[in-house]
Amino acid sequence: MSINLKSLIPVLNAEWTGSETDIFINHISIDSRSLQNGSETLFIALSGVNNDAHLYIEELIAHGVQNFVVQYIPENCAGKANFLVVKNTLKALQELAGYYRNLFDFPIIGLTGSNGKTIVKEWLNFLLSPDFNIIRSPKSYNSQVGVPLSVLAINEKHNLGIFEAGISTVNEMVNLQKIIKPTTGVLTNIGSAHDEGFLNLVQKIDEKLILFKDCPVIIYQKNEIVDSCLSQFVAEYMMHPRTLFSWSFIDTSADVFILKKENKSDSTHIQYQYKGETFDLEIPFSDTASIENAISCLVVLLYLKYDSETIQNRFARLYPVQMRLEVKNGINNCSIIDDSYSSDFESLTIALDFLESQKKKNASKTIILSDIVQSGFSNEELYTKVGQLITDNKINRVIGIGTTISAFKSKFSNVITFQNTAEFIAEIENLNFENETILIKGARSFQFEEIVSLLEEKTHETVLEINLNSISYNLNYFKSKLANNVKLMVMVKAFGYGNGGLEIAKLLEHHKVDYLGVAFADEGISLKNGGIKLPIMVLNPESTSFPSIIQYNLEPEIYSVKGLKAFLKIAREKNLKDFPIHIKLDTGMHRLGFEENTLDELIQTLKGNSTVKVKSVLSHLATSDEARHFDFVHSQINLFERLSSKLISELNINPIRHILNTSGISNFPDAQYNMVRLGIGLYGVSNDPAEQKYLENVGTLKSIISQVRTIPAGDSVGYGRRFMAEKETKIATIPIGYADGISRLWGNLVGYVVIKNQKASIVGNVCMDMLMVDVSHIDCKEGDSVIIFGESPTVIEMAAALKTIPYEIMTSISQRVKRVFFR
Ligand SMILES: *Cc1c(COP(=O)(O)O)cnc(C)c1O
Repeated sequence: MSINLKSLIPVLNAEWTGSETDIFINHISIDSRSLQNGSETLFIALSGVNNDAHLYIEELIAHGVQNFVVQYIPENCAGKANFLVVKNTLKALQELAGYYRNLFDFPIIGLTGSNGKTIVKEWLNFLLSPDFNIIRSPKSYNSQVGVPLSVLAINEKHNLGIFEAGISTVNEMVNLQKIIKPTTGVLTNIGSAHDEGFLNLVQKIDEKLILFKDCPVIIYQKNEIVDSCLSQFVAEYMMHPRTLFSWSFIDTSADVFILKKENKSDSTHIQYQYKGETFDLEIPFSDTASIENAISCLVVLLYLKYDSETIQNRFARLYPVQMRLEVKNGINNCSIIDDSYSSDFESLTIALDFLESQKKKNASKTIILSDIVQSGFSNEELYTKVGQLITDNKINRVIGIGTTISAFKSKFSNVITFQNTAEFIAEIENLNFENETILIKGARSFQFEEIVSLLEEKTHETVLEINLNSISYNLNYFKSKLANNVKLMVMVKAFGYGNGGLEIAKLLEHHKVDYLGVAFADEGISLKNGGIKLPIMVLNPESTSFPSIIQYNLEPEIYSVKGLKAFLKIAREKNLKDFPIHIKLDTGMHRLGFEENTLDELIQTLKGNSTVKVKSVLSHLATSDEARHFDFVHSQINLFERLSSKLISELNINPIRHILNTSGISNFPDAQYNMVRLGIGLYGVSNDPAEQKYLENVGTLKSIISQVRTIPAGDSVGYGRRFMAEKETKIATIPIGYADGISRLWGNLVGYVVIKNQKASIVGNVCMDMLMVDVSHIDCKEGDSVIIFGESPTVIEMAAALKTIPYEIMTSISQRVKRVFFR
């Protein structure tokens, strides 16, 4: 890409302030953290209700970024860079992408549907890559932001595009259509996902079809509703010629009719009829979704006139698609980012940004990279670009695997190369991986999953998966409830409510929350040691921890005169000035805090003092989640108002005031004062069922089946023979027990797990490290994935059955359960 920046002024309808001379840009960015931002980057400052990239512009200018699309020029930035000022930066990004798309006229396949878009896209890419230089959406970049970014990665060497478009409500597709302008439309499975955004199925299909407005051909699975939507659509958007190319399991009038489907254990044999002839095809998958997705690909290949032999050969090598970048714990304190199934240039740029954002403090960055396939560039050009990208990203060591990357070794610094994966594995012991964040990225044929499994820390199979995107989503949801200028403290005590302390704190730091809150000093110390710079309030500082609180710049909550005096003594010895402290008032919770009758002594002790500075005054609500006690909440708020006002006027100070926790934010919007303290809501749990549906699930506790057996009627299961089989019963054993945090009360048919989307009741007592479930009705085997909680069952549901609260369930998951973070 090389675009004259000023040529964009009319395209974006922008106002220009900046240099008189011509400027060329070669890279578009919306991510302030990316190390790929440079002098030829155009940074588009997106601005959501809660997340405003304008805040990062000053920093970006300091790092050499010169060109910006903005809604306003931030303070201190005028005259220091070039600005295209527009009304709406998201619209500008979309318009830019639409303009850029029009510079190319090769065929583009546009995919939409409720399920399967990403898999069909990845498979089509794989199936067609021997014949085309393909540009495709990376990962599942299919949103209002993801689609323009995908399209902006097109270059002059590409000759086929495959882009997916995802929508969640009406009027969204029209934007995406203008950006992708597909020439072939593929409608994947229309399920019930995202139904909330639409009145009904018909409206959802109608909206999706808009992507295909200008497509001469639409490929889809025939069914009555889709057919009737399509005939309306075709009439509305007259276009000649327009071909509808369909497939079906049941309707013989479809262009491709699947007349036979035979399930084997790991594959499926199908027979299809096309143009009066019958063909066979082996699909290397056995689940329904994969079979439908594979057939969508088959039909595209038939439409493109591939013969059945080529189709068979290429289908034989279809592989499971890994859709996201996963972070795993590695050996010797390494962490691993597993992207072992793709090696194209576009996804490399994304993976490098992710690597930077996940890097642990003091860890160095390593990349293990295979030959890069299908870029369209000559190898000389390609590896020059890759070498430059890796240099820009300050990678400490590069390990290249493959004959081509080895031949272009000179393009990299700090590189060692191997001819193939086996050669690398033979040497792995001598390469001393330690304290590194390692990105493992390779084309599928290199089988880098073997490298991942060698470098991954070996623990048992139970993991708590944390969805970092959902955390951002929930954060933004609560931010949107805050009045202007109200600050946000996020509680990350108890290891982020069990979800992971440092990783979540890092994400919150990126989102520029104002404060973090922890329970004890050592929690704060480990965050500071991990590189967190945000101020951290310690709720329950023991006096023995005061010296380390000072050393690590943590901010204690002071809740008694005795504590205050002890802290002052140490602080004076160290000659501190204005050291930040937080004053906790007891307004009715009766846990910690100054009561009304101790206020005068507090004021006397603080008066005229310059050793400490009261950063904030806070109190805590006892019943913000229970409507029958809302009178009590009001009395607490009134008392807080009175006591804090007195403190403020008598000490003549101007602290932050805060009293609301999560349910307080939801139920008492008038008491936000200058800050609120968000806890459980961030982790996806609301105490209000009506609000719950606006939050996203964050943690999913997963395990696998260790063993399956069938027992006859009359036999028992587990300790104490608490389960007696009334009939022949199939039992699966799962390696998770009460030592991992699963309550024994959840056993004996009270609780269940989910296997292949079906419930399996827990039979017998939960053991220390294992539990057993009834899987008589489920087609499952050893190694199959098991969900303990997440979308279903939810922690809320579990808490209700166990007569406790979600907080306890979440924080009980023991530290021996590995946490895996992903986006
Ligand atoms: C834990 C805690 C919070 C957060 O409470 P949630 O109900 O999880 O939002 C707020 N303030 C104090 C003092 C806390 O201890």
